[in-house]
Parts: sequence; structure tokens; C-alpha cells
Amino acid sequence: MALVGMEEKEPHAVCIPYPAQGHINPMLKVAKLLHHKGFHITFVNTEFNHKRLLKSRGPDSLKGLPGFQFETIPDGLPSSDTDATQDIPTLSQSTSTTCLVPFRNILSKLNAADDIPPVTCIVSDGAMSFTLQAAKEIGVPEVLFWTISACGFLAYMHYPHLIERGFTPLKDVSYLSNGYLDTPLDWIPGMKGIRLRDIPSFIRTTNPDDIMLQYVKGEVARADKASAIILNTFDSLEQEALNELSRMLPCVYTIGPLPLLLNQIKDDNLKFIDSNLWKEESECLEWLDSKEPSSVVYVNFGSITIMTHQQLVEFAWGLANSEQSFLWIIRQDLVVGDSAILPSEFVTQIKNRGVLASWCPQEQVLSHQSIGGFLTHCGWNSTLESICGGVPMICWPFFAEQQTNCRYSCSHWGIGTEIDNNVKRDEVEKLVRELMEGDKGKEMKSKAMMWKKKAEEATTPLGSSFFNFDNMVNQILLSKT
Ligand code: UDP
Repeated sequence: MALVGMEEKEPHAVCIPYPAQGHINPMLKVAKLLHHKGFHITFVNTEFNHKRLLKSRGPDSLKGLPGFQFETIPDGLPSSDTDATQDIPTLSQSTSTTCLVPFRNILSKLNAADDIPPVTCIVSDGAMSFTLQAAKEIGVPEVLFWTISACGFLAYMHYPHLIERGFTPLKDVSYLSNGYLDTPLDWIPGMKGIRLRDIPSFIRTTNPDDIMLQYVKGEVARADKASAIILNTFDSLEQEALNELSRMLPCVYTIGPLPLLLNQIKDDNLKFIDSNLWKEESECLEWLDSKEPSSVVYVNFGSITIMTHQQLVEFAWGLANSEQSFLWIIRQDLVVGDSAILPSEFVTQIKNRGVLASWCPQEQVLSHQSIGGFLTHCGWNSTLESICGGVPMICWPFFAEQQTNCRYSCSHWGIGTEIDNNVKRDEVEKLVRELMEGDKGKEMKSKAMMWKKKAEEATTPLGSSFFNFDNMVNQILLSKT
């Protein structure tokens, strides 16, 4: 990748993620790639997350580098020292109504500084679309980064149509369980076989003023105001959904999987900048080193999922009874209103073949040769990281577009099998055995390896994502407004 704009002042990109783990991680990767291209970078975290990063990573991770600096804005919520995930509806409402003013102030401060180049573009999370106003005010282009799958994004883009056609809000709660969610939505182009239950979960409300329903509606309505949209996916994985999105929106660039695209640049300095909000327990990698190839089930439900104590117990006994080795990451705030306490007999029984930790370096875990399968909530980063590692999945979607990712993983890409939301230990045991030892598991593994190869092709020089990243930089971020 060549440096750009050498004869003039370097371009300056302000990158602002939605303040949750699954958004900060991919945005940081985009920021690193832009930095490598010769951009000065300002990365804007919320004060809440900045504090957490300092705690989990230490001050070095946020010191930045020459040409790579951090700024913070308040998220509008009462200050708190907890390490728990913030409530998403509350956070979404707060960022969309309070963050424009502090963000505007950051831009003014940056543009008044003598020792850094003026801001030339904004790269904002698609779910932080208030930033479009700020970009317009200072006359710079804005790229919206929707950090989700193309299929998930396309489904969100149809929220206004689902509302117009009366599919949501639901008439009453019985519609959640009376088969209504199985309604086929064959009128949505580019989403073959899609049903109402595969649409991102915020439609499952009876309240027309539901915060998330209204929030999504507002954010997708502004998507076409951006100079370009970037997506962390690759063409061969989601071609049909991407064709539709390209018809609806200007300049859609696929630049994923970002973990692989970032691997193309070898810059040791950038490795120090990291975005994990929880402290990693890296010892699990040593344990994985001691295991046979493809012999360990990895279990992790991401940064936001919460479950009941009973669901935790069902997963626990299902894993124990499967007699497979497993690495299970249990966040401190995984269980609703409680700390996650596992039955003591379970802990004794799994002593030699199960390892529990509270957070891990997931990208490294999923690319470790010992991992044979992934029990996941289908967050988009997790799904892509699983594809990058060639690892098949058992899918237990929690919320948002995880339902859509689950559908595509199971029905379109052939790399997943779904577990009932009302999880029972016998089903966990059966699916885990099938994944690790059965014919279906072998089939899914070979599909996962095929997608891994295609993901690698997309991110090597001349691959679609590599090419699109260069194009996006040249056409949008270096364009004069
Ligand atoms: N992650 C991690 N360690 C963990 C759990 C998660 O590094 O123990 C990272 C994971 O690699 C991914 C992100 O956190 O990049 C989670 O994003 P995802 O979209 O999968 O799910 P979310 O947390 O947004 O539900």
C-alpha cells in the first residue's frame, strides 16, 4: 500500500465508533489501515470507554503514535465506574441526542491546532449518523462504516417498509410465539428465503415508539447522505445482498474481513494500540497449544449478550455431557442481574477438559489450530473471525442482526447449525457432538475452510476488499469537497 498525498499536508481522518466493543474493534482496524496509508488519525472514544481501556490495557495502549491520537467525548449518561456493558437502547438514545455538540467541539479544537493537519474527512459508525451534520458544517466528506453484515444491513434498510406494511410493531405479544415470525418475506429483494424471524430483532416489539425501532429507522434513513458506505464483509460471501445495497446507496465498499486486511500491513508500532474493554486472559492460548488440532469447542457470546442463570446451567451441563474439550468465556456480566455462578459438580467434572475465563484474545483463539468449533451468539465480528479461522459454528443468536447472521450462516453459507433459544442441555450435548464428531460437522468444517480461502483471496493484493479499500481512499477520502 503506497503512501498518499505526500506533496501536501497529510490528510486527517477523524474516526468515531459507536461506543460498544463490536464497533470499536473494527473501527480501530480501519483507523490503522488509514494511518498506514499516510493519514493522520484522531480516534474518538467515549469517556466511559476510554477509562475502561486505560484499566484493561494500560496507558500505553492509548498513548497513540506520531500521527495517531485519541480524543474523548461524553456519552451523555451518568458517569459510572462499572465494567459492565452499557444498556444499548439507553446508550443509543443518548449518543444520538447528546453527542453532536461535543463532537463538533472536538472538530473545532482539531482544526484550531497548529501542530496537526486540518480535518479532511470523517469516518463514522453508521449508527452514529449525527456526525453527518458535523461533517457538513466543516465541509468534509463522511464515510459511514456499518460494522454489520451486508445481509443484516439490508434487513435494517427494510425497517421502514416493514413498518409501512404493518409487520411491526406486532399486534400483541402472542405474535412472538404463534408462528407469525415464520412469515416469509419474499418481497425483499436480495434476501432469498428470509422470514420475519431472521430480521434484526428490534422488530419484535408491540410498541410503535420502541427506542430501538425508532433509532434504527432514523439511522438507516440517513445512510444515503454519506459520501460512501464501508462494510466489513467480502463480495463472494454476500454478493446478492451487496447488489441490492448498491442499488439503494451511493458507493458501497466491501473491505473485509478486516482482521485479514490488517494482516497485510506489517507495522509493529500499530500492535500496541488495542481496543479490548476487558482484560484478556491470554493463558488460555497456552492451554490450546497443548491440545490436538480441531479438538476444542470454543464458547463465547460476545460483549453484550446476557442470559438467565438457568440458560447458563443448561449450556454448562450440555458441554460437560458432550465429553469434548472446551474453552468457555464467561463475562462477569453475562448472567442477568447476577454474577455467573456455575454448579460446583460441573466445575469438578470438567476439571481436565474444560477451561473457563472471563475474556480472551478471540481473534487469536479462533485462528488457533486446536479450535474445532465455535458456540457463538453470531455477532458479526465473531462470525467473520470464525470464517477467518475456518471454524464451523453452533449459533445461539441473542439480538439485533445476530438473527440474520445466524440464518445466513446456517442456510446460505453452510457453516452453522442453530440451537433453540430455549436452550436445553440435551440439545447442546447433541449439537456439540455433531459439530465435533458427526458428518454434519465435517461438512460444515469443509464449507468453513472454503470461505476462509475466499476471505483470504479477497484481502490479498488484487483481491476485492484490498482493491476496494484503495479505491475508497482515493475516490472519497482524498477527494476535494
Ligand atoms: N472479543 C474478544 N474477546 C472475548 C470476547 C469478544 O476479543 O472474550 C471480541 C471479538 O473478537 C469481537 C468483539 O469482541 O471482535 C465482539 O464483537 P461481535 O460483533 O462478535 O459481538 P458483540 O460483542 O458486538 O455482541
